[in-house]
Amino acid sequence: MPSEFALIDRYFRRRTRHTVLGVGDDGAIVRPSAGMELVVSTDMLVSGTHFLPDADPEDLGWKTLAVNVSDMAAMGAQPRWVVLAAALPAATESWIEKFSRGFFACADQFGIDVIGGDTTKGPRNFCVTIFGEVPPGQALLRSGAQAGDDVWVSGHVGRAALGLAHLQSRIVLEEPDRSECLAALHRPQPRVALGLALRGLATAAIDVSDGLLADLGHILDESHVSAHLDIPGLPPTGIERECRLSGGDDYELAFTAPAALRGEVEALVERLGLALTRIGSITSGVSPRLTFPDADGNPVEIHPSGYDHFGSGAN
Ligand SMILES: [Mg+2]
Repeated sequence: MPSEFALIDRYFRRRTRHTVLGVGDDGAIVRPSAGMELVVSTDMLVSGTHFLPDADPEDLGWKTLAVNVSDMAAMGAQPRWVVLAAALPAATESWIEKFSRGFFACADQFGIDVIGGDTTKGPRNFCVTIFGEVPPGQALLRSGAQAGDDVWVSGHVGRAALGLAHLQSRIVLEEPDRSECLAALHRPQPRVALGLALRGLATAAIDVSDGLLADLGHILDESHVSAHLDIPGLPPTGIERECRLSGGDDYELAFTAPAALRGEVEALVERLGLALTRIGSITSGVSPRLTFPDADGNPVEIHPSGYDHFGSGAN
């Protein structure tokens, strides 16, 4: 059995692109680009909560980094450096090799340097801390939404939750939906290019990790506004509606932008090759917080539920 340090050397020590000193010392040294601000975020993934115990290690490696890159996208930041802390029940080399292959595939796709971390024995869980760069004052915050703004969402929210529902036999998906939904669940694609393109365009942004309505609710809370949503093609009832509104695990971006810039946002669809759907508008005041049109088109208040680790809805 190779030692912990041999495993780190073999599977987590790679040539870096923009790092002064990477893996191998007590700390790493990085030099932020001139004039840039650093954006920092951290996320944990715990077996049984964030991933199934028998998750494919390569997919899990990808996802462990991708969900963190997604927070950089939500801030409009260019992701740069990452550290990984891992607790593993055993140092199974073949498993670690596959995990690192997925992790570095994601790092390579987004030009991120893996600069350090820690490993220990224990129930399988991962903690990633990621660092990115943004020009001063251009970070996308949750607190900038204004009455009159459009509300947008990227991609196809609900697919990851539908994929999970399929794996749990709560629904049966046929092709091509099955492959698309399982890919969304196992290999989320963080929207870094969209985040960068929204600098100076969006008034607020968030990534959709706990559910569209729950995460949009964070923008409404931080911006002290409310919203009226009218989501194209949303089924009136059923599991697809539930997954699209509250499923979570999508890692798409929900954002607001002035209605006057609607054309600029729509132009991003072709430029980025990414679906962007206008799902409503921001209204003033804080109550009612979130409304949908009823059968007659009248606004009715809804109370979103999303994933909350300590909430009654957890698990
Ligand atoms: Mg987030």
